[in-house]
Amino acid sequence: MDRGTSLNSFPGVGTAKMKALARLGLVTVGDLLTYWPRAYEDRTRVYSISDAPEAEAVCVSALVAETPVTAYIRKGLSTTKCKIVDHTGNVQVTFFNQEYVRRALTVGETYIFYGVIERRGSRLTMTNPIFEREDKARFTGRIVPIYPLTAGVSNNLLAGMALRAVEECAGELPDRLPASLRVGHALCTMEFACRNAHFPKDQEALAVARRRLVFEELFTLSLGMSFLRARRAGAEGPAFPKKITEEFVGLLPFVPTAAQRRAMEELKKDLTSGRPMNRLVQGDVGSGKTVVAAYAAWLAHAGGYQTAMMAPTEILAHQHYETLNKLLSPAGIRVGLLTGSLSAKEKKALHAALAAGEVDLAVGTHALLSQGVEYANLGLVITDEQHRFGVGQRSALSSKAQATPHVLVMSATPIPRTLALLIYGDLDVTVIDELPPGRSPVETYLVGEDKRQRMYGFVRKQVEVGRQVYIICPAVEEGETADLKAVTAYAKELAEKVFPDLRLGLVHGRLKSRDKEAAMAAFAAGEIDVLVSTTVVEVGVDVPNASLMVIENADRFGLSQLHQLRGRVGRGEWQSTCVLVSSNRSPETRERLKYFCSTTDGFQIAEKDLELRGPGDFFGQRQHGLPAMRAADLAGDTRVLKQAQDAAAELLEADPGLAEPEHRGLMAAVKRLFAEDGDIFN
Ligand code: ADP
Ligand code: MG
Repeated sequence: MDRGTSLNSFPGVGTAKMKALARLGLVTVGDLLTYWPRAYEDRTRVYSISDAPEAEAVCVSALVAETPVTAYIRKGLSTTKCKIVDHTGNVQVTFFNQEYVRRALTVGETYIFYGVIERRGSRLTMTNPIFEREDKARFTGRIVPIYPLTAGVSNNLLAGMALRAVEECAGELPDRLPASLRVGHALCTMEFACRNAHFPKDQEALAVARRRLVFEELFTLSLGMSFLRARRAGAEGPAFPKKITEEFVGLLPFVPTAAQRRAMEELKKDLTSGRPMNRLVQGDVGSGKTVVAAYAAWLAHAGGYQTAMMAPTEILAHQHYETLNKLLSPAGIRVGLLTGSLSAKEKKALHAALAAGEVDLAVGTHALLSQGVEYANLGLVITDEQHRFGVGQRSALSSKAQATPHVLVMSATPIPRTLALLIYGDLDVTVIDELPPGRSPVETYLVGEDKRQRMYGFVRKQVEVGRQVYIICPAVEEGETADLKAVTAYAKELAEKVFPDLRLGLVHGRLKSRDKEAAMAAFAAGEIDVLVSTTVVEVGVDVPNASLMVIENADRFGLSQLHQLRGRVGRGEWQSTCVLVSSNRSPETRERLKYFCSTTDGFQIAEKDLELRGPGDFFGQRQHGLPAMRAADLAGDTRVLKQAQDAAAELLEADPGLAEPEHRGLMAAVKRLFAEDGDIFN
């Protein structure tokens, strides 16, 4: 066996298992070697029954004293029970729905049981323990890895394969960190890291291994970000004319806030400088970022340049198109909309207009990036809610310009300070820290199922006084058929039984974009009272008349996502409300949701999210368009982050192109890390 060996050479791994494994990105032994555990179980100590601490998972060595007996409690529920003993006592063991245990456990044999021992009266019990025969134990006496799983792949399978893979091939992994750097930063070798990340000798060895892996990952990411930055730094950008800002303000139907003005002045400085701007405008939902984007496009137009503005969804692109067209066409700016749902003919016409310079501002989805879209004179690229776009997608759009265009990134996602450094490492930041006047913060309540009827009554009341309502159900995005059924069935019930007299609409990710947009447009036009939707309304959608947001199964959302959703209301003059519906009784969940009710500060919420759920959420969903991280746990690793960044800067100073033979492996790793994003290093 070597690094390239296919996983199907393991016993019990056939075509079906290979398919399941592939979903985890696992095809070869090498893939498995770098598939890091998400947690560990400490099975180093084996206790006797009377010595075992209660209420925490432990290993006990005990003999099966009686044949396990299965009882069928009701449909879909069986219990299989037996007694296990050692010389100090006995434990009643219960397995739920695991009838195979009857065959797997042999009376008179000794096994290691790993589980939680609980005291019930005078009896000791254990529920659903993991077990292995003592004389054939592979995992007892070890710290055992727990891997991220998928349907059809058990942790036992992965751990079993990893054990052999590590034993035979850990030394084959290439060590990409230059030796001097490794020694300088007191990092262990890749082989040590691999062995101890999977099967740590002890907690200390695990910490050493993790530090190395995290360092390497952040180091590689930092190198990539530095390449991006360096590529821009030397470039020349278009210099837009220094127009009087008041001229633009005259186009607005309201007075800009001080924060908006500040942002416009900062942009103006960049955009008129002749150096390519690369700036993030970060402002909470509803803070009025669109106006700032419009201002930048207005300046571009004054300089004779085109602007491309990318939105993450068609709905949003459409809405931006409407807003910007209304705002900017009086100033002679020709705005065009390019989305995937245009007909071939419409597309062609728009492409021609862009190439001929007959459209000044193109608003669209990623269709703006597609091949064959040419611009006469692209000077500014705006991406809204950039976390949905990859770093590389941003730069792909930039490469459509003759000179390096200015880049403006707008985001409503507050990023915890610890992450901002990394995520926006290649951007300057402007913060809009003020909401337009006359907004009162959205009031938020948490209710259980028992208040459902009252909640419906509240919905009705809002509609009666002329407002509109969102009802959000958890995600229907990719492939979640069960959820899709749930949301359509729920919408049907609302339409037929609860609100037969109200005008309801339904929007979810699986709808054709035409239908989605029609429903959104109808809602925006006030033709729909209640919009039942999945999170497709999450980003950016603006319907000021909507004053109530109901979020079903609120416990299924992260805090940051809830914050995004809540931002859809409270955008007009009306006092707005957000109702979280959840009957989840877990104390952590309730604490989380209660916390959400208590504040509307997006940055605080993001910090709390990070604290509660860890950065996996920020990286896991790839919501910032960064390459996926596999090892880095940034909440605990900000120190390593700083070290890795400094080391990357130092290395690039010595070898800016990573051209030396010793660094080629690193360069390849950087490219691979950003691989999904295509040719960003060209
Ligand atoms: P976001 O920052 O979430 O993108 P938008 O740009 O969509 O916010 O603005 C939210 C709403 O506030 C819009 O209806 C917009 O017209 C309005 N708005 C923006 N700036 C102001 C302002 N200075 N005064 C009053 N209303 C404003
Ligand atoms: Mg917006």
